[in-house]
Amino acid sequence: MAKTPLMEQYKKVKDQYRDCLLFYRLGDFYELFYDDAVTASHELELTLTGKNAGAEGRVPMCGVPFHAAEIYIYRLIQKGYKVAICEQLEDPKKAKGLVKRDVIRVITPGTILFENSIADKSNNYLIYIMETDKELDAVLSDVSTGECWWGVWDKKKERDDFFDMLSVYSPAEAVCSVSDDFYSKLTGFASARLGACLMSRAEGEEEENLPEVCASIDNENVKTVFRRLSAYIRDVMKSEVSVFHSVLPIREDHTLTLSEECLRNLEITRNMRDGGRKGTLLELLDYTHTAMGARLLKRWLERPLTDVNRIILRQDGIEELTNHMTELTNLEDMLSQVFDFERILSRIEANSTSPKDLLALKASLRMIPEIKKLLSGAGSVILKKINAQIGIHGPVFDLLDRSMNENGTGNVRDGKYIKEGFSAELDEVRSLSENSQQYIADLEEREKTKTGIKLKIGFNNVFGYYFEISNANKIPIPPYYMRKQTLVNAERYITPELKEFEAKALTAKEKTEELELKIYQAVKAEIRPEIPDMQKTARALAALDCIASLARAALKDRYTRPRITNSREGRISIQDGRHPMVEHALKREMFVPNDTELNHHDQEILVITGPNMAGKSTYMRQVAVLTIMAQTGSFIPAKSASFSPVDRIFTRVGATDDISTGQSTFMVEMQEVSHILRHATRNSLILLDEIGRGTSTYDGMSIARAVVEYIDRKIHGFTLFATHYHELSVMADESSHIKNYTVSVKERGKEITFLRRIIPGCADRSYGIHVARLAGLPESLLKRADEILQGLEEEGNNPAPVKSAPEKQASSGLDLFTSPIIDELAHMDVMSKTPIEAMEILFRLSKEA
Ligand code: ADP
Repeated sequence: MAKTPLMEQYKKVKDQYRDCLLFYRLGDFYELFYDDAVTASHELELTLTGKNAGAEGRVPMCGVPFHAAEIYIYRLIQKGYKVAICEQLEDPKKAKGLVKRDVIRVITPGTILFENSIADKSNNYLIYIMETDKELDAVLSDVSTGECWWGVWDKKKERDDFFDMLSVYSPAEAVCSVSDDFYSKLTGFASARLGACLMSRAEGEEEENLPEVCASIDNENVKTVFRRLSAYIRDVMKSEVSVFHSVLPIREDHTLTLSEECLRNLEITRNMRDGGRKGTLLELLDYTHTAMGARLLKRWLERPLTDVNRIILRQDGIEELTNHMTELTNLEDMLSQVFDFERILSRIEANSTSPKDLLALKASLRMIPEIKKLLSGAGSVILKKINAQIGIHGPVFDLLDRSMNENGTGNVRDGKYIKEGFSAELDEVRSLSENSQQYIADLEEREKTKTGIKLKIGFNNVFGYYFEISNANKIPIPPYYMRKQTLVNAERYITPELKEFEAKALTAKEKTEELELKIYQAVKAEIRPEIPDMQKTARALAALDCIASLARAALKDRYTRPRITNSREGRISIQDGRHPMVEHALKREMFVPNDTELNHHDQEILVITGPNMAGKSTYMRQVAVLTIMAQTGSFIPAKSASFSPVDRIFTRVGATDDISTGQSTFMVEMQEVSHILRHATRNSLILLDEIGRGTSTYDGMSIARAVVEYIDRKIHGFTLFATHYHELSVMADESSHIKNYTVSVKERGKEITFLRRIIPGCADRSYGIHVARLAGLPESLLKRADEILQGLEEEGNNPAPVKSAPEKQASSGLDLFTSPIIDELAHMDVMSKTPIEAMEILFRLSKEA
């Protein structure tokens, strides 16, 4: 005995989609079979049942109701599966024999479009990577918004940059046509750094036609990538429409390059703790009212500008809005009524939309004339430009306004989503299905008056609708009454009108559904040609939202407009700057503002010495964060400031970051320093926080010093160098470009207070013991540490055995002269330990004691 016909059909389909979980439509359910069923029942906690498959007997099966499938599919996608949706291609009621079925869509993490399945406020990227002899070519696309970006990297020289780009954008899915060797590197990198990125390899199938928007690209390899990506997208989405509406280079000349490392260290768009938004600059500046604006703001912060004019354009727009508070508030109100129509349009294009989406599109378009009216009074070039880019799309609005019913559920399943009055045909069938009782009553009344006969309309399953006239009332019957049935004391008739009504009424419900769907499809088809233009509008609104958001942030936190000067001027000058996030966390009054001066004449490198916890790294980060804000076009927390744009910002901060990866901290640190020294230019901003801390004091100090000297002689980039090795302050005597700064400290006996004020000069000692006291270590221990320190200092920092502690302190009965604990303490280089390291050592020692 063979398989059942259904299972034969299933197997044929499944054979073509081996790498997917196959959702197989059977009536009101999607069913999964065999291994797919086992996997899905496990992942989704569904009951595993079985189905008779013929010769094989029962095979595993599980299923989900079709109308609730999205959430299940989404959960599987999140877990790294691909899902193929196999639909019934004909109406089961009308099909002869087995219903035709085929896959209508494959859903992957990079092509998923369900509402609520992807974060509103960030892009969902699908990247196609192609390797050639010399290059890495990639196209990064967001199918949900129609945007894409392309880039080319030199395989030898720019591999780091390529991987860095992957970390920054963190795609949900990568399709690779690359060598085996490079593929294994990519997958290794992805599993370490890209979280849930789904990796797959492609055969290199190409679409013949290049998407229209790519016409201006002149790199043949990149064009090939676009063709391949198009083929891949067509393959999974089973749709002929082009999904790209805007194409830009990833590596623009006029943008500030920020590595993922730097974005994370400075907490620009992701925080250090868990990579989330909390506590980031993005969170602080995000007063956007649309998801489109929120996504764009994130991209603005990830890639600030270097082009002075473009920065000034944004600043002018922000300034104009901050000066017109009423308009700003009105604009915010209007924007808050604009939905994420960038994504709605993509769903319309991919035919995976709901009537609710069309209503949201309509509501968004409704705001446009008002927004344009408001902008028509704008004076700044950027707001005028945005206004010019926003289309009105009146005909689309009218069509949606006439066709879509606002009072329904917005769901196809519930019907009633097409408005009354839009289609006479629909109105008629709908009223038939809804009002047949009323219609019957009306008809009965009409016929009674017309004929003068006492008749009534009835219904049975055999004859359908009829007029019944009892024999007692049988006066002459009009000729259009046709006899259907004779009863003992009555006759039953039908008329052409009743017959017609019957035919309509019986199919009315079905027809209503069909017609409604047809009209809905037609409405979408009519909108479709307008999508590219509406996407442009969406992007212009996103930019407007960002400008408004930065204006609102400026007003809220009293930011000021920095002066932007030409790079040739080479100067960063900040008066009373504040670190926006630290200030927020602290409450404004408690934050101590600081000045910064960096120029190529006499202040290229600032060596900042000072005790731990004094505020060195906050200060350094502040300079970088303010630079990023300024180059984004944003206003900044400072009394006044002037920036010449930098080309790159490098950060080497926090030596304890990478312990989890198993790499030696010091090795990681040195690799990063090496990366910085290779890539930094005269126009870069470099932050080096405590480099050399991961090794012994002398080693560390020597390397740190050599690094600073190298930057001073070879690179000339603006550098902030924080160290608690106060010995390094001598470098300022040797170069006119290096200046010493320190964090001011107030001392009163053993108590010291950090004043958080950065002043010229250098710290004369380290205060590590003071920090240990703040951390709550026992006083007796601190006293002992002080003695050890003094011993070390007297012996010229020679880490030889120090005079042991006097016996009388051995209150716990320990023999201090032979104790390995004391021995270790005596040999310990306290100066090179961070408070955390010190505490870890103490913790261990206290356990050993
Ligand atoms: P360091 O790098 O010198 O060890 P941090 O920069 O980490 O010190 O600063 C330690 C703490 O001091 C920060 O967490 C912050 O709360 C506080 N702080 C730093 N700078 C300031 C400032 N300018 N005003 C107020 N508090 C500050």
